[in-house]
Amino acid sequence: MSFNALGLPKTFLEILENENYKNPYPIQEQAIPVILKGHDVLGIAQTGSGKTASYVLPVLAALKQKQGAKDRQVDVLVLVPTRELAEQVKDVFHLFEKGVSHPVKTMAIYGGVSINPQMKSLFGISVLVATPGRLLDLVDSNAVHFDKLKTLILDEADKLLNLGFKDEMNRIFALLPKKRQNLLFSATLNEKVEEIHQILLRDPVVINVAPKEGNIDQITQLAYSISEEKKGPFLRHLIKDSDMKQVLVFTASTYKADNVADKLRKNGIDAQAIHGKKSQQIRKMALQDFKVGKLRVLVATDLLARGIDIEFLPHVINYELPRSPKDYVHRIGRTGRAEATGKAITLVTPEDEHHFKVIQKKMKVSVPREDGNEIKFD
Ligand code: AMP
Repeated sequence: MSFNALGLPKTFLEILENENYKNPYPIQEQAIPVILKGHDVLGIAQTGSGKTASYVLPVLAALKQKQGAKDRQVDVLVLVPTRELAEQVKDVFHLFEKGVSHPVKTMAIYGGVSINPQMKSLFGISVLVATPGRLLDLVDSNAVHFDKLKTLILDEADKLLNLGFKDEMNRIFALLPKKRQNLLFSATLNEKVEEIHQILLRDPVVINVAPKEGNIDQITQLAYSISEEKKGPFLRHLIKDSDMKQVLVFTASTYKADNVADKLRKNGIDAQAIHGKKSQQIRKMALQDFKVGKLRVLVATDLLARGIDIEFLPHVINYELPRSPKDYVHRIGRTGRAEATGKAITLVTPEDEHHFKVIQKKMKVSVPREDGNEIKFD
């Protein structure tokens, strides 16, 4: 199937061609026509599936020219769990908004940066991409109104709920007009997401493109047994010896993330840590540098395991195990995205053995193992 058949205006097809989007991904093939028809949608899809364009394209195609260009009303509201995702979604709107025949103003708002410039800029906005907390601050300051809202989108609903945004979201829903289109995207369908879907969606078209848990065929997985004290040097050996150019390393704590990044830098490997305790500016810069290949190693906590799209990331290393099998899948899912293949390496200390067994059992896979202690390195 080609994008031609999905009912999008020609102007969008030209942009898609320029961007080298040759054929729609499954979520796009299924979601674009039904969103264009005005249906509510429940999309079970992970980052990497192409879910963002699956709603951005039809939402922009249906967007009417704003009447009161100077008012504080928004037409489309996208709620997202993190600042990074807010920026990323805004960028996809920017990419495709040239396909609309009238001017479209898209803005991303999130906490951790000064609120005043956001308040001043909230005029004539068609599409607002927001994290819930900052959005409510702006609502309380009377800086944004929803009386004319046409479409509500929840992106990564499961993560919004996991991060404890339920009350904020309910407050926001209460501000919206009853008659609107609702699009809900989530990587998983759990009880909490079910609950919100029951409240929010009217007779939704359900689209499920989530890979089956553990079905991560494009990713080569490998584990190394290694003693706790050899872990640091072994990580450096792996990066240097395999000449990894771009590697995402996961740790279990912010402290460890900083510590691993420091040690790598001291040993001449360019690395930065990002986690919830770093400022927005630092997170943004490190991520940006990493994405464009200026930064070799990004060390992250699970905050980044979902939602951030890094194209063709070749290597993920679990320096420390994630808490749950689901997190394992999300972590290693950062590699082998879309049509690329990737390699995921997990370091397993004697203390991790039991937990790693549980992870593999839940995922119904047996990750090939090598003994890192046997390998000679400095
Ligand atoms: P997403 O799941 O929305 O984060 O998208 C994952 C990545 O796939 C992004 O880098 C998109 O630019 C890219 N992408 C989305 N749809 C297509 C497509 N139909 N063809 C090629 N690349 C795509």
